[in-house]
Amino acid sequence: MKPTQTDTLPVLTGLRRAELEALVAQLDEKPFRAKQLEKWLFEKTVRSFEDMTDLSKAFRQKLTEQTVLSPHTIRQKISSRDGTTKFLINLADGQTVECVTIVQDHHLTACLSSQVGCTVGCPFCATGLSGFRRNLSVAEIVDQFLLMQHAVQQGALKEFSDHDRISNIVFMGMGEPLLNYDRLLAAIEILNRQIGIGLRRITISTSGIIPGIEKLMQEERDYNLAISLHSANPETRDTLVPINRKYTVATLLDVAKRYADHTGRRITFEYTMLAGHNASRENAFELAEALRGIHCHLNLIAYNPVDSPFQAPPRAEIEAFQRIMVKAGFPTTIRHNHGQDDMAACGQLRIQSVDNNEQPLPMVKA
Ligand code: SF4
Repeated sequence: MKPTQTDTLPVLTGLRRAELEALVAQLDEKPFRAKQLEKWLFEKTVRSFEDMTDLSKAFRQKLTEQTVLSPHTIRQKISSRDGTTKFLINLADGQTVECVTIVQDHHLTACLSSQVGCTVGCPFCATGLSGFRRNLSVAEIVDQFLLMQHAVQQGALKEFSDHDRISNIVFMGMGEPLLNYDRLLAAIEILNRQIGIGLRRITISTSGIIPGIEKLMQEERDYNLAISLHSANPETRDTLVPINRKYTVATLLDVAKRYADHTGRRITFEYTMLAGHNASRENAFELAEALRGIHCHLNLIAYNPVDSPFQAPPRAEIEAFQRIMVKAGFPTTIRHNHGQDDMAACGQLRIQSVDNNEQPLPMVKA
């Protein structure tokens, strides 16, 4: 797709408070206009300058000519029986990215993507199977939230939930968030400070990018961390999460322990159960031994099959695994696989919608 003139204009949904204030000053408007603009963009989630009714016509005209509110749109939306709703978002360059709202008893959670595709290449993951295209911009990350929040306010989930605001965020969609570090943290700053989602309600989920976790530990603020572990056995993890060949599981668990000790926050380990690979009693004992001493919570997830040779184990095997972990002293939940009836694995909606404009991506291994 050819670049257009608007490609070079600032996209407002990706601007942090200071950047928004600088832009308003540059447009020769009074400082309080930045606050008004912020309210329309991030609180009321309007999608057009016309709707910003307390801004002067002249200011709106300047905004229209010299900025872009957002070039992103919802291309497709699919809800499953439990209310989990997947959105496929059109980006300005013709790429697409997925995000999801998950209905839980007391809140709505947004699952956001950080990259188009993923370099990590986990063989059981739809995104991993589709290769890597590029990192998302700050606006592309924040806008996933805003588009879903706008849809929720318009009643998109009313048959499933009374909530009209998304209160929790997990970076568990397409891509490896810590490989898009600076933009991720800039997006979290907007989600937290301008949109008002508490930092404790935002979780970064990584496949185990050790330099990223180390860097996160140096930040002034403490972030919730989830680690997609999937196996404590080095050889098995080499095949399930190929980044393990670079950042080994032993080093990863060491840094995870330091992260939990340093921040005082409990680490969540995500563990996708794959029959014949990581779901046996022996695997559970090995995991319990490896996690010893780490302040953590374990999430067991029954695999949601994509076009790959992997299968979920029987429910009884997952429950036996859970019993071993609980007995060993680890709080362990079996996570309901949200949206199983409608392509719940990350990247599946996008893969199914690939058309002539967007060819399937080549496989890139980390
Ligand atoms: S599971 Fe996560 S890290 Fe692995 S390929 Fe998929 S998106 Fe990337």
